[in-house]
Amino acid sequence: MEHFTATVRALSVTLRHLFRRPTTVHYPMEQRERADRMRASFALVHDEHGEEACIACFACERICPSEIITVTAGGKRESPVTGKKRGYLEDFTLDMQACIICELCVQVCPTDAILMTRETEEPGYAREDLLLTMEKLYANEEKKTTTWATATKLMETQDPKRGQPKPVKKPKPKPKPAEEKPAEPKVEAAPAPEKPEEPA
Ligand code: SF4
Ligand code: SF4
Repeated sequence: MEHFTATVRALSVTLRHLFRRPTTVHYPMEQRERADRMRASFALVHDEHGEEACIACFACERICPSEIITVTAGGKRESPVTGKKRGYLEDFTLDMQACIICELCVQVCPTDAILMTRETEEPGYAREDLLLTMEKLYANEEKKTTTWATATKLMETQDPKRGQPKPVKKPKPKPKPAEEKPAEPKVEAAPAPEKPEEPA
């Protein structure tokens, strides 16, 4: 009897959920709205002059705790836009297989060249599909939405002075009003002596 009641109870739970709206979606065809703080992949971006912002400084490669970034420098040459000498990339790869989404590579970039994106990469069938090549990373600049977090903005959020109350400015002491001098008593002019009449 105990087994029978347990079975009926289990069946009733199944029947109750049979007519409920599903809480799952057919990913990746259907995607839910993502939280603002979502970080999923990466993009290499261009600067305000339309040039590749990466100067091949190796900072992201050095900081990456998973050692999955490989930067190949293409040497220094004059920028055709600014005329200044700067470094260029020859190649750049980021292997998403071991990325821990720590965002350190973004934080250390001196030119805001690498950013994280809110959309994930397409699901892949081979390990190589998760290797982000330089071409894929520059294509992501166009295809995906980058997060607000550039190195510059992230450093601003870590400014120790941020959030502290502003020092209160002491009001300047008001200048004392000049002491009024007592009014000098008016000296009335003595009446002019009358001229004696001349004898006729
Ligand atoms: S976010 Fe990924 S690629 Fe960037 S430093 Fe962290 S582990 Fe490396
Ligand atoms: S992405 Fe930024 S940190 Fe990495 S090599 Fe290029 S300029 Fe340097």
